[in-house]
Amino acid sequence: MADKRDYYEVLGLKKGATDEEIKKAYRQAAKANHPDLHPGDKAAEARFKEANEAYAVLSDPDKKAKYDQFGFAGVDPSYGAGAGGFTGDFGDLGDIFGDIFGGFGGFGGFGGARQQNRTGPRRGENLRVRLAISFEEAAFGCKKDINVTKVDPCLDCKGTGCAPGTTPEVCPDCRGSGTVMRQQRTPFGMMQSTGPCPKCGGTGRIIHSPCAKCRGAGSIRAQRKLNVSIPAGIDDGETVSLRGQGNAGANGGPAGDLLVTVQVRPSPTFRRDGTNLYTTASISFVQAALGTEIQVPTLDGEVSLNIPEGTQTGSVFRLRGKGVPSLRTGLKGDQFVTVDLTTPKNMNRRQKELLQEFADIAGEKTGGKKKKRF
Ligand SMILES: [Zn+2]
Ligand SMILES: [Zn+2]
Repeated sequence: MADKRDYYEVLGLKKGATDEEIKKAYRQAAKANHPDLHPGDKAAEARFKEANEAYAVLSDPDKKAKYDQFGFAGVDPSYGAGAGGFTGDFGDLGDIFGDIFGGFGGFGGFGGARQQNRTGPRRGENLRVRLAISFEEAAFGCKKDINVTKVDPCLDCKGTGCAPGTTPEVCPDCRGSGTVMRQQRTPFGMMQSTGPCPKCGGTGRIIHSPCAKCRGAGSIRAQRKLNVSIPAGIDDGETVSLRGQGNAGANGGPAGDLLVTVQVRPSPTFRRDGTNLYTTASISFVQAALGTEIQVPTLDGEVSLNIPEGTQTGSVFRLRGKGVPSLRTGLKGDQFVTVDLTTPKNMNRRQKELLQEFADIAGEKTGGKKKKRF
């Protein structure tokens, strides 16, 4: 027991500290040394356990009274010192984690995110890129390589920012919290405000020997080639979100997302509206009158379309399931073919005779003046 530090000393307190002071000091120590924020850092882990043990005793009025009177002999020293810590009965555990994790991810539900919390895990920023793809690539989906400049965790120091074999020092000014209290005299009296700690820049730690690769930042900005999958049916201006492919988070926070907004190049053949496609087919008025079968282009290649006799110009035919799949349901829309009638030009004598006969039978007047040529 000779090498054990006094519980008050562990938390940076004097004997006789109030419950509120004990709680606050523990909170700062736990925040500064939490193993999740210092992966593989044995010294931080030891300090974290030490703080847990101290708090387990000092937060319990009964144990605290015994410790105050008899020292370590008054309490079971193994209490709360087990591997992993947090074996004690912490009524305000959620409260404390709420502080440490600031409402992020896995510990959701514990309090709200705090703007002032600069030392807790922070999610990385989202990256936004634009990607031009062809009409067909949008309809069928595609895989594309894109180059992005993004912030990745530094592999040399595993994101700690420290040279190999070294650990950061907990900032003595803010005791690792990253924030300091300031007092200002104002006409209304003394005003208290908190702000980022100037000594450590709000990080809560001081790196004495920074990692050579990232110069202590823990992350590096680098060009990366990413292979992204664009789902079938995406439309112009829509965005694909690729989870965790954005910038690296800070202090163990998750990476942001990569948001890819597609620009779909127009097709010379198809016009698209939602999941439906629109095309036009030109036929002669004779074909329209007598009926015919034509080949029309679809995304799956040409298909036959039956044109019944007596079809009028502007008639629309539906090809079921020849549209684009819906992003949400995967169900394909339809293709609509609008028929456009053409009038024959430069007919030979025989063709004109036959048409004149047709008009005579129908009692239609013909014989317009020839169009003037300029
Ligand atoms: Zn590094
Ligand atoms: Zn500081």
